Amino acid sequence: MSRNEARLNAINEITNAAPFATTMTAPLNEIWASDVFGLQQMEESLSKSAFKSIKKTVQTGAELEPAVADAVAAAMKDWAMTKGAKFFSHIFYPMTNATAEKHDGFVVTNSDGGAITEFTGSLLIKGEPDGSSFPNGSLRMTNAARGYTAWDPTSPAYIMQTANGAVLMIPSVFMSWTGEALDKKIPLLRSNAAMNDAAQKVLALMGETDIATLNSSCGAEQEYFLVDEKFANARPDLLLAGRTLFGAAPAKGQEFDDHYFGAIPERVQVFMQDLENKLYCLGIPAKTHHNEVAPGQFEIAPYFEAANIASDHQQLLMTLLKNTAKRHGFICLLHEKPFAGINGSGKHVNWSVGNATQGNLLDPGHTPNENLNFLLFCGAVIRGVHKYGPLLRAVIASAANDHRLGANEAPPAILSVYLGDQLEKVFDDIRTGALHVPTTGGQMDIGLSQILKFDRDPGDRNRTSPFAFTGNRFEFRAVGSSQSVSGPLVAMNTMLADSLEWIAAKLEAVLATNSDKTAAVFAVLKELMEEHGKVVFGGDGYSSEWHKAAVEEHGLKNIPTTADALPAFKTQEVIDLFSNTGVFTPAELASRFEVYAEQYILSIEVEAKLVVEMATTSIYPAAINYLSNIAATGITLDFSPAGKVAETATAMMSAVEQLSAALETEAFESTEAHMQFLANDVCTLMETVRSAADTLETLVDDSLWPLPKYREMLFIK
Ligand code: ADP
Ligand code: MG
Repeated sequence: MSRNEARLNAINEITNAAPFATTMTAPLNEIWASDVFGLQQMEESLSKSAFKSIKKTVQTGAELEPAVADAVAAAMKDWAMTKGAKFFSHIFYPMTNATAEKHDGFVVTNSDGGAITEFTGSLLIKGEPDGSSFPNGSLRMTNAARGYTAWDPTSPAYIMQTANGAVLMIPSVFMSWTGEALDKKIPLLRSNAAMNDAAQKVLALMGETDIATLNSSCGAEQEYFLVDEKFANARPDLLLAGRTLFGAAPAKGQEFDDHYFGAIPERVQVFMQDLENKLYCLGIPAKTHHNEVAPGQFEIAPYFEAANIASDHQQLLMTLLKNTAKRHGFICLLHEKPFAGINGSGKHVNWSVGNATQGNLLDPGHTPNENLNFLLFCGAVIRGVHKYGPLLRAVIASAANDHRLGANEAPPAILSVYLGDQLEKVFDDIRTGALHVPTTGGQMDIGLSQILKFDRDPGDRNRTSPFAFTGNRFEFRAVGSSQSVSGPLVAMNTMLADSLEWIAAKLEAVLATNSDKTAAVFAVLKELMEEHGKVVFGGDGYSSEWHKAAVEEHGLKNIPTTADALPAFKTQEVIDLFSNTGVFTPAELASRFEVYAEQYILSIEVEAKLVVEMATTSIYPAAINYLSNIAATGITLDFSPAGKVAETATAMMSAVEQLSAALETEAFESTEAHMQFLANDVCTLMETVRSAADTLETLVDDSLWPLPKYREMLFIK
């Protein structure tokens, strides 16, 4: 195949591509959760007492008796086999953003050599994959390679269908043999428990008597790009790095604002419907889908669920997005910045906390009494974001998300909170004492209760804020599109736990001398806002004025790169936060730093190697081909654009040489120094190579250009 044949063939074939229709048109009620082994399936197949026991485990986390586990395992196996499953797998969530699974057959042979099936409670409860194959920071060195998976009964098992069969998937935690968390599920469960403990204390002090277990909720809006697979196959960068490392800006980009909420191309619509049918079978409540801002960019947002389940479902959604896209001749890019100069993708994590008795504690409600609880929880979030801003920045840090944060279309790399005008004023008035309460008697005065009657949407939307209150929840908008939501949820739950503990202690002290709850709440919140109110910001987060004022006047940190962000995991404040709440031991936390730093280093190194390879073996030859074609015509080479091509190609190769040399650098004094070197020297050289290559793309004969161009990939036919 000649150099550009893949590209030209792709253009031809794609012009004739038809939507890939599937036959799944069954109504929602027939397919909803049909591949999920939920409470209903358990009730149908278990004895009354076994069902009662497992239900208690599912709903409250109570310990499971071995006999019940055996009964559940048998019922689960029978159900899965009716769905065509011959294998089962514990699915777990290592410290990468991916999932992991090891499949085992139900089959065993009997003494006659016949095949029978077996699945016991102990097989259901525990699996043992080799822990050494997964990133584990330093935990492996100290604790040997063994790793265990253990069933998480609170997240339902399900069937993963493929064209030739089905596998029973069992959501699990993953730990070392001494019980240290090697995954993203254990900390999420622990952070929920810590938040619940602290919230119980605050609510009890507020006079609540019936307080159900509190849980956090998550609704994640997932942005993604679709690119025709035929183009992607001709782009090693898309295949290996998930983003374009080269590519000149197209004449038409997103400047017309004609894609957002525009008509969805039929091929994409068919893909979305196929995906949503699968999601419904798995009990994932896909709710919204639409075009996003950039051409070729889309969003899917399931309805919110309990954080642990939402997190498992989010991982499954990302897997299904990729698999289903392939069936439709696309590749799905979850990368945060697949195309330079075009909007990147995020994953807005909508988060709230609540329970069955007090409801959503981030909902202002309609009565002042509910408002007091709300004000405390909202205040707790404000304190958390202020105190642990660098942690929130660290949990969303990745080489890919660095391209997005701080650019003018994504939340800034400065963590501030947006409250909306009305709420911002209430908190500001609390801080200055303008909202005062009578010091005698237990009743609030009428004026105050009116002030505290919030509107459902207390303020406009602010798309420039990384962390925004949106009526009854906070929306963490800076999370990257390819990330697991677990890290951000763990950070939010834990900072909330810490703040609620602080509030509980303060409230208790104030209430010991004055039983007026309103006065106590306002006194505590006044102190809180005096110390942490500077994190609240309602203006334009993208403006250069804010970038200056945030640092100089508000004392907030602007943390541009992952190299700058990850060391937050090593600060005493963060170590204490996680040890005090029981979410991470210092060793577990240290292992996270190592794993995330390693992922950062590896992803930049892979990209840099690809830049060297593609520039050398594909872009430079295209330029030389072009020049030799011109030379063959007898026209002198200093004739423009040939002269410019020759000059730019030479400049590109000189930057390639420097980049190759930089990649040979070894012996860094610390991981931090290694990351800084990549963030500064290596990324800058990659940019230099790219900029020369992109100039060549605009000069070299189009029919010789090897890589599919932005204008071809971005506009789906
Ligand atoms: P928008 O694009 O306007 O931000 P979407 O409707 O696309 O809103 O997504 C909002 C997300 O927030 C959905 O996943 C929704 O289910 C979720 N959500 C709504 N209420 C809550 C809540 N109380 N807690 C957590 N998530 C919520
Ligand atoms: Mg949103």
